[in-house]
Amino acid sequence: MKIICDWNNCLEEGTYKAPIEKDNSKKYRMLCLNHVKEFNKNWNYFEGMNDDQIYEFIKSDMTWHKPTQSFSSSDNFFTILWNNALKDELNKNNGKFDHMKKFKFNHNDVKAFGILGISIGIKWEKVQEKFKKLVKKFHPDMNAGSKKYEDKLKIITLAYTQLKNTYRAIN
Ligand SMILES: [Zn+2]
Repeated sequence: MKIICDWNNCLEEGTYKAPIEKDNSKKYRMLCLNHVKEFNKNWNYFEGMNDDQIYEFIKSDMTWHKPTQSFSSSDNFFTILWNNALKDELNKNNGKFDHMKKFKFNHNDVKAFGILGISIGIKWEKVQEKFKKLVKKFHPDMNAGSKKYEDKLKIITLAYTQLKNTYRAIN
């Protein structure tokens, strides 16, 4: 039996997972390709959180150290977010981000640039490059499943997702 896309009135087959909550739970809904793209576009993980809340979230053992929700579990929120981050690239816009320098980034963006260790307003291609480099460095497979690196990778993924949403919104 086919699963139907969970988007309003959509009748396409739902083959992509989209997380429902931000709490690392396994809850997700199934969407078709078009709607999971739409979902990714609008997904801002940090929305409605202030700086302190984000900081607490990133630091929170409760959030990231639940034994049942390791990074490698396929339904894990971060795995889904991470896979989306890897798969779902921005449209190619070579060099069209020059105006980014004038754009005023919010606190979360600035934080995300800092986490990735890149200058604010750098071209999107450079953001991607750095992200891929960091993914390679901190991937659990490269580090014998070390929890420390796994957490680092989660932070990097959140930062990258944050910036991706911002760049897409501006573009
Ligand atoms: Zn759909």
